[in-house]
Amino acid sequence: MPKRVIILGSTGSIGTKTLQVIEDFPGAFEVVALSTNSQTGLLAEQAKRHRPRAICVCAEEKANEARHIAATTGAALHLGAQGLVELVERYEADLVVVATVGFVGLLPTIRAIELGRNIALANKEVLVTAGHLAMAAVQQRGVAILPVDSEHNAIFQCLACGGREAVRRIVLTASGGPFRGAKRERLLAITRKEALRHPTWSMGPKITIDSATLMNKGFEVIEAHHLFGVPVERIEVVIHPQSTIHSMVEFVDGSIIAQLGVTDMYLPIQNVLFYPERIANKFPSLDFVNLGRLTFEAPDLVNFPCLAYAYEAARLGGTYPTVLNAANEIAVARFLREEIPFIAIPEIIRDALDAHEGLPAKTLEEIMAADRWARDRAREWKPGR
Ligand code: MG
Repeated sequence: MPKRVIILGSTGSIGTKTLQVIEDFPGAFEVVALSTNSQTGLLAEQAKRHRPRAICVCAEEKANEARHIAATTGAALHLGAQGLVELVERYEADLVVVATVGFVGLLPTIRAIELGRNIALANKEVLVTAGHLAMAAVQQRGVAILPVDSEHNAIFQCLACGGREAVRRIVLTASGGPFRGAKRERLLAITRKEALRHPTWSMGPKITIDSATLMNKGFEVIEAHHLFGVPVERIEVVIHPQSTIHSMVEFVDGSIIAQLGVTDMYLPIQNVLFYPERIANKFPSLDFVNLGRLTFEAPDLVNFPCLAYAYEAARLGGTYPTVLNAANEIAVARFLREEIPFIAIPEIIRDALDAHEGLPAKTLEEIMAADRWARDRAREWKPGR
């Protein structure tokens, strides 16, 4: 029996790679539903190849293209952010791959967990903003959350070597991004083009900028805390420019288990799609001699304060991580539109965290209200405020 898979966000970098893995193993998977925000051209190609039962297009202005895809492929049509929730509610699946970017992934993921569906999670916002709610639902329903992100997938694999209660420390590795070692004068002059060039991983624009500011690593600390139930004080970030060690777990007996591999998202995606099985693929083995050396250094929290802000938001808890995420999302969008300089990204986040009056975030409504508040504030931010 093929594994039935719904892919939310099938046209992004994780979504397209997920379909690539699925195509490489004919007969192993059935694609039940696909979705895109606005890339209807690519979605049309995917729908022709995989013949899903349903598609969803989120961007309103693409509704006509969406109707055309549905009509030509025979897929049922769902529209808007609500359409993502409908996909997980109406179609049976063994695995829901959440590869959407941004806050839009939150509701369908929570809904999928409530319905008892296993999740392959690549969307950061779910755990950053509502990790405590999502994990409570996971425990209640007994579903699996399989992390797609290379670091969390690495930790997940390392934890096969020992119980969570025996974890002394998690070491999250970070490439350091394209501006590793840069000081203030250099950071002041960074262009959009430079920031979009990542040294080791090929990813979408939002996450590439988040990697350049180290905010991505900050989100990963918060995610690891929720996923693995380890306090943030015991999650350490180490800069490892080669990105060969994808993360490590140190156990109370001093043993450290590391997960290594080629820097290609194909591998963690394959891991979660087939979990708990391991299946041979055509990937070449890692060439250690050619690699030469693996190096490590401390992150520079003065010039890259986003990482420190993430620890701060995690310790404050409640709606603070939501504010961190929302202010960052708007700041990155403004940087990509070349409205603000690179160094204004942490300033916008700092401003939102300082101005926010936190709530315990006991409901999704509270989280969504904090999200809207922080977005508005970040949109209106001007230098020297
Ligand atoms: Mg990562």
